Amino acid sequence: MSELIDTGDTLAQRHRRALMRVLLVCTALFGCIFIALNFAAGKYLLMSVEIAVTGFALWLLPVMKRTPNLQRWTLSYLIVLYSGTTYALVTPATSVSVFGWVLIMPVVAHLLLGRFWGGVLCGVFVPLSAAIFVWRFGSDPLLTNPGSVANIVTVTACSYLLSHVYEASRAEAETQLSTMALTDSLTGLANRSQLEQSYARLMMAKRLPLSLLMLDLDYFKRINDAHGHDTGDAVLRAIAKTMVKQLRRSDLACRLGGEEFCVLLPETPHAEARQLAERMRDAVEVLECQHRHTVLRLTASIGIAVADTADEPLEALLHRADENLYRAKLDGRNRVVG
Ligand code: GH3
Ligand code: MG
Ligand code: MG
Repeated sequence: MSELIDTGDTLAQRHRRALMRVLLVCTALFGCIFIALNFAAGKYLLMSVEIAVTGFALWLLPVMKRTPNLQRWTLSYLIVLYSGTTYALVTPATSVSVFGWVLIMPVVAHLLLGRFWGGVLCGVFVPLSAAIFVWRFGSDPLLTNPGSVANIVTVTACSYLLSHVYEASRAEAETQLSTMALTDSLTGLANRSQLEQSYARLMMAKRLPLSLLMLDLDYFKRINDAHGHDTGDAVLRAIAKTMVKQLRRSDLACRLGGEEFCVLLPETPHAEARQLAERMRDAVEVLECQHRHTVLRLTASIGIAVADTADEPLEALLHRADENLYRAKLDGRNRVVG
């Protein structure tokens, strides 16, 4: 059974960690074969380099399972591996086929390190290896045949370009997906998942006191009933915009669902949170939503809760804010409680 370790990885990191472990196993396995071959051929220096690379791969294998410095270790290993390949190219005893390893350098580097560091690493090692290759095998019949040279150059360039473009579009797709997963599609505000992530981050950074406002629109159902769901949606978008205008860059506005919103205010004591809540309630009250030839107006009730210690769970804070919101509704709506 595989051991489950929470490394706090993003999706891409989890993917790269698994790939890196496969690369380590493969290079250690092939390293052992080459060590035996070079021992048999009496190429002791090259054999020593392979022992060093293989030893590093075996040592790194358990480290890779849990290290938080995944990128740093991967970069270190690839530098060692590529240096070993470059050394093999320089060694007079090796054949022209060693260049095959250079062809897969860009793919491996981009998959494991991403576009920037993958690009940098290949930008150093591929031209260096190509120069050594030309220097060593310049007079080889392979390199005096233009067709063969064109093949080698094309395959190397394609390997670099395809992996670079693939990695760029993969990273963009991942950013888009994670933005979608953390955003409410109707209003563009944060959704509950983002609220949970931000709350955990703010608590870890001890950005206290952390205030939370829970806002619910009053009699919103009447807007839907009288003017239709589309108009209700347009009103929700206008409310979201109005809320965001009242906030600082460090605050987070979120739609919990329906016509219920919540705002996280880091490093905000109760008095300040209350001022902001009143400002927000005012802004909703004066907002005029145009609908065909009528102007729609509505109000909001807000409940406040403040966390003074970093051990307060989000659920408990939401519950306290919800209780105050409920009181605001009972007391007649269009008010702030807490
Ligand atoms: P209260 O003052 O007690 O909060 O009354 P209310 O009418 O705002 O609350 P209620 O919970 O009775 O109704 C909420 C309504 O919100 C019901 C539902 O039709 C509407 N709603 C929920 N989600 C959406 C949405 O995504 N779009 C639209 N247009 N309406 C929604
Ligand atoms: Mg409501
Ligand atoms: Mg509601």
